[in-house]
Amino acid sequence: YGAKSGRTGVEYYRPGAEVNTLLRLDMIESLRAALGTGQLEVHYQIKVELDSGRSHGVEALVRWRHPTRGLLTPESFVPLAEQAGLMRMLTIEVLETSLAQCRRWREAGLEVAVAVNLSASDLLDRAFPDQVRGLLAQYGLLPSALELEITETTLMLDRVRTAAVLGELRELGVQIAVDDYGTGYSSLAYLQELPVDMLKMDKSFVTRLEDGSGLRRAKAEAIVRSTVGLAHALGLRIVVEGVESASALDKLRNYGCDVAQGYFLGRPRPADEVTAMLSSPVVRAAVDAAATEATT
Ligand code: C2E
Ligand code: MG
Ligand code: MG
Ligand code: MG
Repeated sequence: YGAKSGRTGVEYYRPGAEVNTLLRLDMIESLRAALGTGQLEVHYQIKVELDSGRSHGVEALVRWRHPTRGLLTPESFVPLAEQAGLMRMLTIEVLETSLAQCRRWREAGLEVAVAVNLSASDLLDRAFPDQVRGLLAQYGLLPSALELEITETTLMLDRVRTAAVLGELRELGVQIAVDDYGTGYSSLAYLQELPVDMLKMDKSFVTRLEDGSGLRRAKAEAIVRSTVGLAHALGLRIVVEGVESASALDKLRNYGCDVAQGYFLGRPRPADEVTAMLSSPVVRAAVDAAATEATT
């Protein structure tokens, strides 16, 4: 990984020296043109507190409504944005859309927190914490209305240079989560030092709880249980993603996970559809049903 200075003086990462195919260049140009035009949409996925069955908030997940290719998932353009130096603008756009929506939910009486995903270039930009502070003020939101998710891999990239930004964000009072936890080889010693509030266990662990042989499942259970124990011992909350069934939900609750997210509780959807979920007892019912199903 080599850092390079962008046109704006903002630093970003250029992963490797890949071949710039014409398609890639074309995608980069149309992404650059799409920023700020409303082609980027934010969908929201509900997160649920397992003890109360209440909604904990939502995760903002970006989509690109491409003029000819249809609705694109982040995997097909987020890495491009990062490589082309467009990530800082993309993050700000997602943040702005999400905070504006959060404000609308709060005005409707819904105490929702939104979680926004960050990339390496965000954490390398010393101006980023001030931008976050400014946007929160603009939308009249307390820092507790915002969570920031950073993958374990990103956090491990450049610990020294990201430490300052991470520290400032935490000081602001926004909640910080380590995303895809368990896939990125962070050491326990490092975890102890990190200024974070939550661990978000990668969905591959939940998948392994539910399929494979008995031995495989038993090992997955041991890993999930000990990760929950570790998080709690370090004073962190533990969130699980990828919950696709009542049975998985019930197991995770029994292991002591704090918050769950997954298709079983709700898929990422446009804001209007999520509003109905946030204000209905549907989620509570799903959590109850999971418990009932497991005991009968
Ligand atoms: P992530 O942050 O780990 O988000 C969770 C991903 O898992 C989402 O995929 C979500 O739709 C999917 N998911 C949720 N529940 C389930 C489930 O029960 N089963 C399965 N199989 N999948 C589930 P999505 O929306 O395609 O996003 C993929 C990744 O793209 C995200 O992973 C995140 O790393 C990145 N991403 C999304 N939006 C943004 C953004 O605004 N900025 C940045 N930097 N990255 C983003
Ligand atoms: Mg995430
Ligand atoms: Mg994740
Ligand atoms: Mg992921």
